[in-house]
Order: sequence, then C-alpha cells, then structure tokens
Amino acid sequence: MSSFLIQNARVTSGADYDDVAGLEGLTSNRDVNVMRLPNDVDLSQITLVLDRIDTLLIEFPSFADGRGFSVAKLLRDRYNYKGLLIADGELIPDQYAFAMQCGFDAVRVSQDTFSIQTEEDWRNSLEDFGLTYQRGYAVKIGPALSVFDARFTALDSRKKDDPYFGYSAEHALRKAIEAYSGKIALVSSMGVDSAVLLHMAARVDKNLPIIFLDTEKHFRETLAYRDQLVERLGLTNFHNVNPSTNEVKAEDADGELYKNNPDLCCNLRKVRPLDRIIGPYDARITGRKRYQTPDRKDMPILELGGRQAKINPLAYWTAKDVTNYIKHYDLPPHPMWSLGYLSIGCQPCTTRVAENEDPRAGRWRNFDKSECGIHYIDGKWVPIPEKKTHEVF
Ligand code: SF4
Repeated sequence: MSSFLIQNARVTSGADYDDVAGLEGLTSNRDVNVMRLPNDVDLSQITLVLDRIDTLLIEFPSFADGRGFSVAKLLRDRYNYKGLLIADGELIPDQYAFAMQCGFDAVRVSQDTFSIQTEEDWRNSLEDFGLTYQRGYAVKIGPALSVFDARFTALDSRKKDDPYFGYSAEHALRKAIEAYSGKIALVSSMGVDSAVLLHMAARVDKNLPIIFLDTEKHFRETLAYRDQLVERLGLTNFHNVNPSTNEVKAEDADGELYKNNPDLCCNLRKVRPLDRIIGPYDARITGRKRYQTPDRKDMPILELGGRQAKINPLAYWTAKDVTNYIKHYDLPPHPMWSLGYLSIGCQPCTTRVAENEDPRAGRWRNFDKSECGIHYIDGKWVPIPEKKTHEVF
C-alpha cells in the first residue's frame, strides 16, 4: 500500500485519496465533492461550497506543524462542516487521539511515515482513542495557532509527575511488566471490575503473579468469582493469601474484631499478609481509578517514590470505560454487582450503594474509614490512618 487510512481504529488503504485536487478544483467546471486543503487555507474562500463537499483532506506537511488541527476545529465549530475530515500527511501515532478531538474522522499517512513507528505505537494510539481512551491524555490546550506546541508542553509537564501519563492502560501494563521484569505482581480484590485488569494482564502475560488477599471474611460470591476468573483467563501464577492462623487466634478469636477496631482487623487480615508475600517484588499493579474517591483524584498511572512502585493502569478510566471493556470482551460480572454492590470488600464491611452515592460509600459505612491507609516505609507496610492515601483493598 502506498498510503494508509486510519479510521474507526482500523487501518486500511488510503489509495482512494491519492489524486484529490486542491483549491484549484474550485475553478474547474467539474463537480467537486472531495478536496485537499493546505493547512494555511483561508476558509472564507470555500464557505459557499462547503455543503457540497463530502470529504476534506487537510494537509500536514510535517508532524511538528499543527496548524491543520486548528483548521479542523474551525471547520467543525465555526463553519459547522458535517462531511468527512481527514488529516493527511506526516502525522505520528501520538497525534491520532488529538486529531480526533479536533474533529478529524481519520488520519492518512504515507507508507514511509507509517513504517517509521512500530506497529505497537499505532495499535496503542488506536486504543487511546477507542476502547481505552484516557481522558487525561488530552490536556486542555491553548490558543489555536500554538495548539500543537501547547499540547506537548502540557504533556511534558504532566510526564514529569507521571512518566506513564498518556499511555493507554494496556500499554502502561506492558511497559511496567517489561520494566520490572520478574519483580512485579498484580494485587486483585476480585471486585466488581477486577475482570478488566485481570483480562488485560492475561493478554500480556498469563504467568504474571496475581495476589488475592483472602481475609476469610469475603462474600462466598467473591470466592466463586475468583475461581471463575482464574480459570477462564488461564492465570497460571495465582496466589491466594490468607492471614496467619496463629495471629487470627490470638487477636480475633471470635472473628468480630471488625466491629470495634476495623483498622486492626484490616491490619491483621490484609496488611500483614500482604507484607509477607509482597517483599520480593519491586512493583505492584492495582486496579484503582481516579473517579472512585476524592482521595484518588490526582492519582498517577505510575506512582514512584516509595520502596515499591505502584502501577495504576486504569487511573483515568471512567465507570463507562470499564463497562465498555467488560461488554467488548464479554467478561463475567461479579455476581453481586447487579444487586447494587458497586464496590465489594469483606462481607461485614460492605453494604449496597444508593443511587447518586459515591461507589465506595458502601465500604466501612459506619466508620470514618475509606481506605486501608497503609504505606510502605523502611521495608514494612505500616498504617498511617491520619494520612490520606491512594492505597486500597
Ligand atoms: S474490611 Fe472489614 S472484615 Fe475485612 S479486614 Fe477490614 S475490617 Fe476486617
């Protein structure tokens, strides 16, 4: 193929648009319904004919020249152009999502341009705008003329705080598994949307260590769901981690510690067991998302700074993104989701969530507690209840 058309997250031949005329077509006697425009076009020249042009190609002579984005925005917003808009020229995968946001329907690149990037780059760029689009990817940009530079300035500054900023979830997962090879594990609660991350992990590496903290206080439905997911996704390195029998006997003999001291109960049944198993790992993957609680609104995809890195591939996902993914891959729902349990932990500390409530409002409902509140300090997980944290189980 001499050129490629990237549209609706699919790559096809772009040859149909090889011989499209430019503005000179307006002065010919032919009926013009497809036209190519330079990126410094004066749009007032074509306003009278816009409604009879089905397809417009906007030229991108260099990937560093972003004026075509502004032309697309003007066409859509000011001139209300409804036809097909194609960004045509030297674009790179990183610009695909942004082009869509500016109003383009498709991107057309030459074979040379297409081959400069790896297929993985293009695949990830398609994901970014398709199934797993991360809202944080598209930083609000400045004046139209400097749209390209402004976006990249903003992107660079965001990347200082979060080196994985802008990655799609699967790309972040792949990068983390590569970067922390053999020293990374995924901790799953087997909750309402755990299937998403587990499914993604299975696509990348079925032998990734998966850790489930079996507090011995879970709903039976959660345990059945755990077994179902492990089998269906073919996870070959699954670890069911229980609390120490001796510690439970000594500290929670009647099994009702959660009633009077949930922090200690979480410490006994989650923190210490996690501490024991997680030691050899340098990084762990979580399914936490920014929208879930106000405490997580600034959570990055890659959290560095502690003794152990945390990777939150779904940080920017919305509830709708999760639902779309589950539907797309036909993943089984948690059996209690349809009963109004939007965040599921241990049975005694989980209640249904009412409409318009925070999805995690049902957790520890009668306690001033929303997270387990633990930090990894000097090689140990320690509870710091007064400090807000992105931590959770
Ligand atoms: S969530 Fe409740 S039952 Fe589970 S460990 Fe924490 S306090 Fe105990």
